Amino acid sequence: MIEFEHVCKRFGDRVVIDDLSLRIDDGEFFVLVGPSGSGKSTLLRMVNRLVPVDAGSVRVGGEDVLSLDVETLRRGIGYAIQSVGLFPHRTVAENIATVPRLLRWPEERIRERVDELIDLLRLDDPGIGARYPSTLSGGQQQRVGVARALAARPRIVLMDEPFGALDPLTRESLQASLKAIQRDTGTTILFVTHDMDEAFGLADRVGLMLGGRLAQVGTPLDLLRHPMDERVSDFVGGTR
Ligand code: ADP
Ligand code: MG
Repeated sequence: MIEFEHVCKRFGDRVVIDDLSLRIDDGEFFVLVGPSGSGKSTLLRMVNRLVPVDAGSVRVGGEDVLSLDVETLRRGIGYAIQSVGLFPHRTVAENIATVPRLLRWPEERIRERVDELIDLLRLDDPGIGARYPSTLSGGQQQRVGVARALAARPRIVLMDEPFGALDPLTRESLQASLKAIQRDTGTTILFVTHDMDEAFGLADRVGLMLGGRLAQVGTPLDLLRHPMDERVSDFVGGTR
């Protein structure tokens, strides 16, 4: 469970997150959607403490993130972003193994987990585990980024526009892989995108962010059929 309670954040005199409260349940696929600059990444990054809150609290599994050791917190939460950030001098297998290695999993277990993820994420070029990131396609790099985020079986995964730079077909195929893995493992996912179609395809519930506030939270159907106000129907209608 991820809970935001009366969270506020400003940069300079600009209010970026404005008294926001939200509860994301265990096993839920929650998508934050909204235009660029609405505060989505800032909110997501509060969960792994890449952004400190000014006021209010963020709790993970009932514990205030500020009360946890920051390294322990981050190792327990998967994180995948658009600019992948794979380690260029490490092989695909070593990139995927990053967190299990930090957690000192035995070698054998790491190898099995890497093979399993290569399989799950359909990284099926023979010998891909031994290759370096620069030799992969953009879609394959994103798959490795997702595999790395999932490697240590975190209960929570944060994803910030992870498929943003991909062509539509590659993107759809990755969305399907991710959704299947999430369903099978019961992982709680907080996913950020500015793309309404992506949000509606993935989400159990969607939160529409506008100007640092949640304009509406609900299932995709709720937002489509019962938009709370004109701003919501404009955003939902405008990008479809
Ligand atoms: P989104 O992810 O929805 O596009 P962000 O959370 O990245 O939005 O940013 C929200 C607002 O906060 C933007 O106006 C952005 O310029 C500003 N912002 C984000 N991070 C910083 C920062 N580190 N310093 C100053 N302003 C920031
Ligand atoms: Mg962002």
